[in-house]
Amino acid sequence: MRKVYFDHNATTPVHPAVADSLLPFLGEMFGNPSSIHFAGRRVRKAMEDARESVAQFFECHPLEVVFTSSGTESGNLAIKGIAYLPGNEGKHIVTCQVEHPAIMNTCRFLEARGYRVSYVPVNRQGIVEPEAVRNAIGPDTILVSIMAANNETGCLMPITRIGEIAREAGVLMHTDAVQATGKIPLDWSKLPVDMLTFSGHKINAIKGAGGLIVRKGVEISPIINGGHQERGLRGGTENIAGIVAMGTAFSLLKTNMDAENTEVRRLRDAFEHGIFERIPDIVLNGHPMLRLPNTLNISFRYVEGEALLLNLDILGVACSSGSACTSGSIEASPVLLAMGVDPVDAQGALRFSLGRGNSDEDVSYAIDALEKTVGKLRDMSPLYPTRKEQAK
Ligand code: PLP
Repeated sequence: MRKVYFDHNATTPVHPAVADSLLPFLGEMFGNPSSIHFAGRRVRKAMEDARESVAQFFECHPLEVVFTSSGTESGNLAIKGIAYLPGNEGKHIVTCQVEHPAIMNTCRFLEARGYRVSYVPVNRQGIVEPEAVRNAIGPDTILVSIMAANNETGCLMPITRIGEIAREAGVLMHTDAVQATGKIPLDWSKLPVDMLTFSGHKINAIKGAGGLIVRKGVEISPIINGGHQERGLRGGTENIAGIVAMGTAFSLLKTNMDAENTEVRRLRDAFEHGIFERIPDIVLNGHPMLRLPNTLNISFRYVEGEALLLNLDILGVACSSGSACTSGSIEASPVLLAMGVDPVDAQGALRFSLGRGNSDEDVSYAIDALEKTVGKLRDMSPLYPTRKEQAK
């Protein structure tokens, strides 16, 4: 049976060139980059080459790159790194209602410890209005954290405008660019943001490595105390294999990103047109244009998203739903609910995220599988008006 992987926003397959580049670091390149002898020095060199490759991709300075274990850790470092600075205790943070749990739960954690947080709403198309951010900023705001692109809908946030507003107000800005990295241009020299989060496993590198770009001159507090690694901002012996993998992935992206995104967009659009042509009663969630080139979020009316996901899995198609299983019941995606999507439609939503390695054959197989599965589930659903009834 064909296997179709349409869940690249969850994680991506490791690029073969990335795998080749990290293998020596599971073998002879085992040194500790902090050691001054030959075994450490050559590993440090590889780590600094990877840092250079990240810097070349974003057009930032290598010293602005802090390696971490993940996008989640980078988001924590950005937010707590500002919140924990002396004098910032109990101050105010602005974020939005559709952030990834990496940001959302960090903000909630701080809120429970006396900080104030404003969760700015999004419009019906899933996008934060810059004016809403402006209105939320107050005299004791220390940070604005707004994602560059949403993981469930792919919606692109106006981070340049929001960054300008934060600058005008004299407030620092962080953007979670975990999903945007490699999918849309992110030029650090033009972005009015002070910190940017990225993650290795979303760009065909490996899990367990990510990074935070911190603009020169911006002071943050470490959240993991220990050795002097990462200029004292992140204690702990570095994950060299993961860092080298990211270095390779970024240098591949630097040359291939545009061509790969054009191809992925073509496939995503073909998939989208195909299912809209063949399956009735479906709705696109999110902005039709201001969206990542690879992402498609659709509500299938009269169908449970989880049931659809499991049935597609049986046919070899991998995708995801934003819903969470909490104490035995399935809760609709908070992102879709924040956008004002009808709760029943939100329950029937699925996210398809395409990526490197997908093909036209994958698209037509997945369209067939979806048509078949949606039809089968609707035939069993007491809520679905049959064709006969519709015709009455
Ligand atoms: N932020 C966004 C927008 C994400 O989509 C994800 C992962 O799905 C993360 C943060 C967390 O990244 P990581 O899995 O590297 O911790």
